[in-house]
Amino acid sequence: MSERPDNHQLERLRAIIEGTRAGTWEWNAHTGEQVINDRWAEMLGYTQAELEPISIAIWHRLCHPDDLARSSEIFARHFRGEIPYYDCVCRLRHKEGHWVWIHDRGKLISRTPDGEPEWVVGTHIDISQQHVNAQLLNKLAEALPGVIYIFRMYADGRSEFPYVSEGVRRFYGAEPEEIERDPNLVFDAVLPEDRPRLLESIRESYLNLAQWTCEYRVLVNGREVWLEGVATPEHEWLDEEAVSWYGVVVDVTHRKALEAKLVQLSVTDELTGLYNRRYLLQRLTELLEDYRRHRTPFSLVQIDLDWFKSINDTYGHLMGDEVLKAFAFTLNNRLRTSDIAGRSGGEEFLILLPHTQVPEAFELIEEIRVAFSGTEFQGDDGQVFQTSFSAGITAVRAGDKRVDQLLSRADAELYRAKGEGRNLVCTETPRP
Ligand code: GH3
Ligand code: MG
Ligand code: MG
Repeated sequence: MSERPDNHQLERLRAIIEGTRAGTWEWNAHTGEQVINDRWAEMLGYTQAELEPISIAIWHRLCHPDDLARSSEIFARHFRGEIPYYDCVCRLRHKEGHWVWIHDRGKLISRTPDGEPEWVVGTHIDISQQHVNAQLLNKLAEALPGVIYIFRMYADGRSEFPYVSEGVRRFYGAEPEEIERDPNLVFDAVLPEDRPRLLESIRESYLNLAQWTCEYRVLVNGREVWLEGVATPEHEWLDEEAVSWYGVVVDVTHRKALEAKLVQLSVTDELTGLYNRRYLLQRLTELLEDYRRHRTPFSLVQIDLDWFKSINDTYGHLMGDEVLKAFAFTLNNRLRTSDIAGRSGGEEFLILLPHTQVPEAFELIEEIRVAFSGTEFQGDDGQVFQTSFSAGITAVRAGDKRVDQLLSRADAELYRAKGEGRNLVCTETPRP
């Protein structure tokens, strides 16, 4: 009995092929004979009759030279048995002159008695529209000040980038194709201190399917760059369970620098460069809270320059400003890195000394008093003068609930120092 399909079966197969809009070809690799269907020719704007005589020469004439070489190479690999199918995307010249993008697939079905490849059959699918879409996407991506991408993660933790746009080169110093092959190139570029936070944010988005956002730094050619990523996760089933994120990453280095500058400005006293009153009170509040929770001690120093009005009156307001700056300089030179010094008003200053009891605080401020009162200034008229400050010190106590309790104790000690002749550091009697 013959195993050949009957006419009915052939009709059905023909209808299926027609339905796929595929061009079909049969090629004898041994003789160069070629058979094509109408659709094969129609895709390129021809009728079969116009292409007569039909042989493999047509393919050689119409295929883009670059693609022809690649196609031959893929055929050779298939014929050697290295790949189960022939599969290649090629450009073919349309009758009107433009290129048509063809997805060309095929399979060797017979060999000559001495084993040479003989009949190969296959299909052509017109993918020009897909190609135009991909080009459109690339053009849009190029115009974006960042990278657009698809990131995918599987339940076992494997991950991949099915798509990354060209901009990725600038951010991660790697080619899009390299990153598509090895997603770790992206994570390796992230600064080690930001990496755990980044991975945690991805994990959270994976579990909750909530929008992912993260700001993190990458090191590109030795330069630190701040990136901000936003992506929407989608649960997908691709042979196995996966979550795909569709997102964008932009460079926010400039914004980050501005933010840091703004924060800096918002806590700094313009004239002296020391902290301002607002920041001092905020830190004092934190220190008090910390003390109430963990009994971590600290001292508070209030300082007021002596006879400052007369400096302004004698040497001018600008000279007064110079003295304020010189005092700030002395503080910066003498204080420890953990100490927090700021200008609380005109010629008044506050110093917070964490982990410091009154006797130790007294020693430190006394040293500063000696240094500052020994500093010589010179007025416009060449006259040399010296000045001084008075200080009051208190330490946090068990009963302290509000910062103004500490502030008024330090102020009382300062007032005492002024009363006892100025250029003096007064401390409360330490209590347990
Ligand atoms: P005392 O020893 O009692 O503190 O005397 P004093 O003159 O320092 O006290 P007072 O509070 O009466 O004067 C402070 C002066 O500080 C008044 C003001 O003109 C001056 N002052 C406040 N802020 C600034 C500033 O930013 N620059 C200058 N040059 N002077 C300032
Ligand atoms: Mg004053
Ligand atoms: Mg004063």
